[in-house]
Amino acid sequence: MFRGVGRLSTVVMDRAKGSFVWTATGERLLDFSSGIGVTNTGHCHPRVVQAAKDQCDKLVHGQVNLAYHQPMLDLTTDLMNHGGMPDASLNRIFYATTGAEAVENAVKLAKYTAGRPHTLVFQGGYHGRTSLTMSMTTSSVIYRQKMCSPQNIFVSSFPYELHGKSVESALSDLKLMFQQQVLPEEVACMVIEPVLGEGGYVPAPPEFLEALRQMCDEHGILLILDEVQTGFGRCGKLFACQDVVRPDILIMAKGLASGFPLSAIATRANLSDQQEPGTMGGTYAGNAISCAAALATQQVIREEGLVENAQKMGKRLESGLKELQSKHSDMIRDVRGLGCMIGVELNETVASGTSKALSQACFRNGMILLPASVFPTVRFIPPLTVNKEEVDMGLEIFEKSLIEVK
Ligand code: PMP
Repeated sequence: MFRGVGRLSTVVMDRAKGSFVWTATGERLLDFSSGIGVTNTGHCHPRVVQAAKDQCDKLVHGQVNLAYHQPMLDLTTDLMNHGGMPDASLNRIFYATTGAEAVENAVKLAKYTAGRPHTLVFQGGYHGRTSLTMSMTTSSVIYRQKMCSPQNIFVSSFPYELHGKSVESALSDLKLMFQQQVLPEEVACMVIEPVLGEGGYVPAPPEFLEALRQMCDEHGILLILDEVQTGFGRCGKLFACQDVVRPDILIMAKGLASGFPLSAIATRANLSDQQEPGTMGGTYAGNAISCAAALATQQVIREEGLVENAQKMGKRLESGLKELQSKHSDMIRDVRGLGCMIGVELNETVASGTSKALSQACFRNGMILLPASVFPTVRFIPPLTVNKEEVDMGLEIFEKSLIEVK
């Protein structure tokens, strides 16, 4: 297998249930990565698994450019009718397979409808590994080096107070960009994560998102929110943008289908109706098993109160981490996040590679915890089904590992 696929460990994952993964040699690991923000309903939730099994017996592949299939119709009805969308105007949906593919399709839609060539993104963002989305990604050069010659993409500042970038300063950078680099009338869309994911779990202050909305309205630019990592309850709300800012296009993936490959974009009819039939599609777009699993996922999120649990458990985790911050202030600089999406940034003085060493120590001590960002940061992404005992176990393993890497 390709060397280019980075891996935190060389263990073989054998099976998983809820918050835990078991390796082929029988070790149990507390999974506070949720497979990078995917298994929001916990690993192998019985209702999700059953829905996929039932669909498997009925129809695996109902190609989207040939006909409809029932799981896609049912999922669409569910997403549109249960207040799933953060804004009622987002009443047209397109399904794809991966997050990057959804981002690609969102930008395609924006360019097609706006008739403008440029895309604006924000420093530290991550949008995927395809040619276009890699060019939109600035969370680390590792994703771009030797492969990327960005065209029609402009990068503006993301507010990150800890590193000296205030909301005010980020907005003035953007205004300057419109004066010095690109006319706003030539920009089709702005694409932003409401919380920087791979870039270090940095929430965008609501006033920044509101200001972007105003700027977009003023210049006829479409505001695209990449909620691939923040969506489906992760931030203690169904979507992070809810009650904060209205997107013109919303991008979803990861938590949508609990691990079955499915992504989607939602938008207004007056945008999507401009596309000629044939503009959109894909062999595996909106796979039937993935749609059936996604429908079960939505029901589980609602019926098991996972958004509320994400708020409660997120608070417990965050306050536990803040206690560790005051106890180990020589190591921990910042604890931040929303709901069950919490970043812990280490002091600038730690040796280079400490966040990776910390992740590996956690792994040895029985917990999967991912690093993020070019700044020394680790991120807590427990499943939204997590309970108190598991949160406390995670905190204990984290402290033990932190002491080990000091
Ligand atoms: N956007 C965001 C915000 C992401 O976090 C990711 C994946 N980490 C992607 C897009 C790309 O998704 P995928 O890996 O499914 O292509």
